[in-house]
Amino acid sequence: SSTSPMVVVANRLPFIITKDKDGNLVRKQCAGGLVTAVAPVVVETEGLWVGWSGLHKEDSTGEIPEADPLDQSPTAGLKSKQVIPVCLPKQQFDDYYNGCCNATFWPLFHSMPDRAIFQADKWEAYRQVNEEFAVLTVEAVKKLKESNPDSVPLVWLHDYHLMMAANSIRDMCDNLGLQINMAFFLHIPFPSWDIMRLFPWDDELLQGILGCDSVGFHVEDYCLNFIDCCQRRLGCRVDREQMLVEHNSRTVSVHPLPISIPYERFVSLAMKAPQVVKNHDQEQLLLGVDRLDYTKGLVHRILAFETLLKKHPEHIEHVTFLQVAVPSRTDVKEYQELKEELDQLIGRINGQFSTPNWSPIRYIYGCVSQEELAAFYRDSSVAVVTPLRDGMNLVAKEFVACQTGEPGVLILSPFAGAGSSMHEALLVNPYETNEFADVIHRALTMPKDERELRMKQLRRRERERDVNFWLTSFLKSVKSLSD
Ligand code: UDP
Repeated sequence: SSTSPMVVVANRLPFIITKDKDGNLVRKQCAGGLVTAVAPVVVETEGLWVGWSGLHKEDSTGEIPEADPLDQSPTAGLKSKQVIPVCLPKQQFDDYYNGCCNATFWPLFHSMPDRAIFQADKWEAYRQVNEEFAVLTVEAVKKLKESNPDSVPLVWLHDYHLMMAANSIRDMCDNLGLQINMAFFLHIPFPSWDIMRLFPWDDELLQGILGCDSVGFHVEDYCLNFIDCCQRRLGCRVDREQMLVEHNSRTVSVHPLPISIPYERFVSLAMKAPQVVKNHDQEQLLLGVDRLDYTKGLVHRILAFETLLKKHPEHIEHVTFLQVAVPSRTDVKEYQELKEELDQLIGRINGQFSTPNWSPIRYIYGCVSQEELAAFYRDSSVAVVTPLRDGMNLVAKEFVACQTGEPGVLILSPFAGAGSSMHEALLVNPYETNEFADVIHRALTMPKDERELRMKQLRRRERERDVNFWLTSFLKSVKSLSD
């Protein structure tokens, strides 16, 4: 066939499996833009998806339920035989997922090495789990070859959970005489060599990624970091212009592929969403939307807002800061401590500045629906997207997509991947509290024509480079492999 069947390999399946009240297995949708974009390709190419179902070996038979006949979601077309669940013992999964992925790679790759732990047993669990993913991926390839012997499947590995699977997949397929192409995409930053070298097994990790034919990162800086690491740690020959790395007499191509959002979906959500309740017509909303994670710079942001209220008391009773913090990794101590810190900080500031009719910070600790989120994005005067470090940051993009009414202002951190393309945002270093407060003031008082001009440009770019553009760019970047 002309299009190669795609095998997506990700930590998670595009839905999780739970039991309904009668004890039947049912699919529960995950709403992310990635799933929305990638699932249809798996369906169209009659491919497969390998990933964790949300159940552990102890409580799963590995059975995958079919989609509900009324299911309208992007994964509805995925038949149960197209899904290969990875089922692991609870302890092993925990060592791999919490112990290594989230406690080592997450902080390290976000350039926060003080928070990273380096433990040989957790790294060992990571490698074992990657091996398990590799075995199931080869099963997937075999299945595809059986039904279509001439096809060359495209194996697409996702994210920092699966950096050690490629070489095993390659070796097993070579031994079986199965031809494949293999690509990897990292959804978080790739750090500089100075940070990467702190990881005790950095050489193995780099070789693990180089097991693929094509490697993608969000932005050029991450690509160059990766190339630099390969050259300095492994002594690879590299070409920075063409973004190529030579390793074991193979050439690996590196690609900047900035991920994005389903732009039109957010526009239509914003057009339909009900009005956000403001206290009065002149009230200006400052909006923050983040998972509660130490990379997101929530404390820095709130301190900057406090400084704003001190420096510019004219905003008191006129500006409200609405922060949505989505609970994340709540069983991890660091995340619990961050939540405590935020609770206290917000309590102190609200205690200090509140008047009988107004509180400076409205704080939602929880998930909000996409409809409600679209209304928040549309009706806010300013979105404050100021992570200390972030692979891309989709909130910045969703905000501009939803700005269908009176144009607002985007404040963006240069340390988010989004900062390298969204030039019309106001960029601010979240560590510079005073400057940060001034930038918020500037955003709140920006004349309408300037707001209009900036937002128009931001929206135009995001409309053109939406998540489908990302997917098409990815498919182009791997097409050259099979030519
Ligand atoms: N989001 C959500 N529910 C909420 C708040 C946010 O589903 O209550 C979504 C939001 O729409 C965005 C995603 O969470 O698509 C956050 O993505 P981002 O790239 O900004 O950060 P990440 O959480 O992946 O680090």
